[in-house]
Amino acid sequence: MKAHEGMYIGGRWRPARGQDTIAVVNPADEQVIGHVPAGTAEDVDAAVHAARAAFPGWAATPPAGRAARIAALRDVLAARKDEIAETVTAELGSPPPLSQAVHAGVPVLVAGSYAELAASYSFEEELGNSTVLLEPVGVVGAITPWNYPLHQIVAKVAPALAAGCTVVLKPAEDTPLTAQLFAEAVEEAGLPDGVFNLVTGLGPVAGQALAEHEGVDLVSFTGSTAVGRQIGATAGAAVKRVALELGGKSANVILPGADLAKAVNVGVANVMSNSGQTCSAWTRMLVDAERYEEAVALAAAAVAKYVPGERVGPLVNAKQQARVRGYIEKGVAEGARLVAGGPEAPRERGYYVSPTVLADVTPEMTVAQEEIFGPVLCVLRYEDTEDALRIANGTVYGLAGAVWAADDAEAVAFARRMDTGQVDINGGRFNPLAPFGGYKQSGVGRELGPHGLAEYLQTKSLQF
Ligand code: NAD
Repeated sequence: MKAHEGMYIGGRWRPARGQDTIAVVNPADEQVIGHVPAGTAEDVDAAVHAARAAFPGWAATPPAGRAARIAALRDVLAARKDEIAETVTAELGSPPPLSQAVHAGVPVLVAGSYAELAASYSFEEELGNSTVLLEPVGVVGAITPWNYPLHQIVAKVAPALAAGCTVVLKPAEDTPLTAQLFAEAVEEAGLPDGVFNLVTGLGPVAGQALAEHEGVDLVSFTGSTAVGRQIGATAGAAVKRVALELGGKSANVILPGADLAKAVNVGVANVMSNSGQTCSAWTRMLVDAERYEEAVALAAAAVAKYVPGERVGPLVNAKQQARVRGYIEKGVAEGARLVAGGPEAPRERGYYVSPTVLADVTPEMTVAQEEIFGPVLCVLRYEDTEDALRIANGTVYGLAGAVWAADDAEAVAFARRMDTGQVDINGGRFNPLAPFGGYKQSGVGRELGPHGLAEYLQTKSLQF
């Protein structure tokens, strides 16, 4: 695994200003696989200047020209899929099939969708006696987490580029090698110098310097609610645009007429995928009292197929492993019934956590309220549909969810009453164009598709 010693700024790899580095660890075997520079405020400043200098030229590039560059970027990502998948497996620990299909595959889809949108989007509209121009916001500061290292980069950078913005990216400390590969892809795709810049580093140092930099017009952040709140406050004080994609505690609502086995199996797969490190995971399964025990048994049987080290990878680092094991212990201490897994580490080496099912979880328990971010499913019992709705909506989050019913109309009627940004109806499929983002404390703004593009535009109206 090759690690760059510098930052990608202004179209070339430049030495970092400081001496400090960050060790990158493979969470499956705890071995150090490389080092990247820990950026300082000076590196961030150089990157923001490069992005500012590139902005007028990129903003003035006709949409078809921007589309062509994004299409070239998509092609490079597609051509380097194996290398991307291997890198994600090495620094995140995800099993190779997941790395191939999701971590390397989805960014190709998303970049492709923005190549098409850049070419077809209406950057001008007529409104009565006005012409409304949709113009790029300016320089974007993108701060991304480690759980979908390339997807989260592409979900910010591709729409920003399509809009005509330039970007400085500060990726997560745990997964900087994937970000360096992305910078290589940008270079190979022939994007003009300074349109995309990368500064690796620590959140409270490089991340904070980027969020606070006066040359940044919009901060797009994905990560924890605590940091999101801080970034929102910083952006608010500077009257800067901000997009926040934060946590979730989504509900998988299984209504009485639903196909129970299918709903439970798909629900378990959703939670166990990526070792449970998915902000939109349906970590609370809601089942009616009559079929509750049957659902719990089905969930326990389904989870048994997720063998650590085979179908399910480790968590990203020791801190996350300890945090998730702590949540399992807390769930049991507060009265939940352990029906699969448990707090003990399933393997001697690597940051693994046993895929776990907690039954008899009640809505006020910590495990039903807080984001666990690990392979832990909570099964809750509801009395009737109103009770199910109350439980589904009864957290500070509102990112995603699922509803299963006898037919789509019944599921849709329920989904309309959910306080959440995305709902899968009877096992609906992933759509890379569907707006993704949260209600309530799950965030501000939307990513993906035309709604994701609109985040990076500001309007100017001309009256005639
Ligand atoms: P985090 O919020 O600390 O990190 C996310 C990104 O923000 C990283 O790039 C980090 O370097 C940066 N960052 C950290 N502090 C910063 C600051 N003061 N200013 C600017 N940038 C800063 O998340 P974490 O500690 O890696 O994970 C903790 C928890 O967050 C997880 O357990 C999970 O609940 C949640 N999380 C959510 C998502 C999501 O997709 N919504 C992703 C990762 C983590």
